[in-house]
Amino acid sequence: MLAIALFVVFRQGVLPTWLSPLPALDLSVPNAWFVDWRIAEVGRSRALCQRVLRQPMITATAIGANPVKDGCGWENAVRISRAGGATLSIGTVSCEVAAGVAMWMAHDVQPLAQEIFGSRVTSVQHMGTYACRNFIGRRSWLPGRSQHATANALDVSGFTLANGRRISVLRNWSGSGPEARFLREIHARACRYFRVAIGPEYNTYHRDHFHYDRGSFSRCK
Ligand SMILES: [Zn+2]
Repeated sequence: MLAIALFVVFRQGVLPTWLSPLPALDLSVPNAWFVDWRIAEVGRSRALCQRVLRQPMITATAIGANPVKDGCGWENAVRISRAGGATLSIGTVSCEVAAGVAMWMAHDVQPLAQEIFGSRVTSVQHMGTYACRNFIGRRSWLPGRSQHATANALDVSGFTLANGRRISVLRNWSGSGPEARFLREIHARACRYFRVAIGPEYNTYHRDHFHYDRGSFSRCK
């Protein structure tokens, strides 16, 4: 029982920051321990969020809360313009998703782009974060709002490299070329930072993007 209780406390980040035995997340450290729990803590505290989301790992500005009403709104959210060395422009995104995407970009996407294409990612294309809506294309027994309804999800659709090459989930996921290899590898690695990391293999609604969120469910495919 105690083990289960401790697991829930850490996983959902319900411990006050000052009581946590875990060191505050440092976005620049690759392969950080307990990264899921430590990202959850960042989501609980606006002060910790401000301390953790720092340049050059991410360019982020805190935005005012829009208290959740009827399942829609946000508490601890930021506006970002860059993450992990690439342009990524988002008006409203939860602190947890921002932290996750910065680590994923810096520690996985950029090194892999360099390895496979010999070029860095300069910008990331996305299909939005905040949307006050229910689940789309998920099993009907799953109740309620999408994580997008609390700005706690990001839909990534493509990448532009410094050498001008463009890679899109829709066009390049299938096949055996270097673009497909890149997409499959970075998508698999996103599971480390996000609770839900689903893409084209999950269902037809995700044929053109990766959906990454920091909700309570866990699902990677
Ligand atoms: Zn989504």
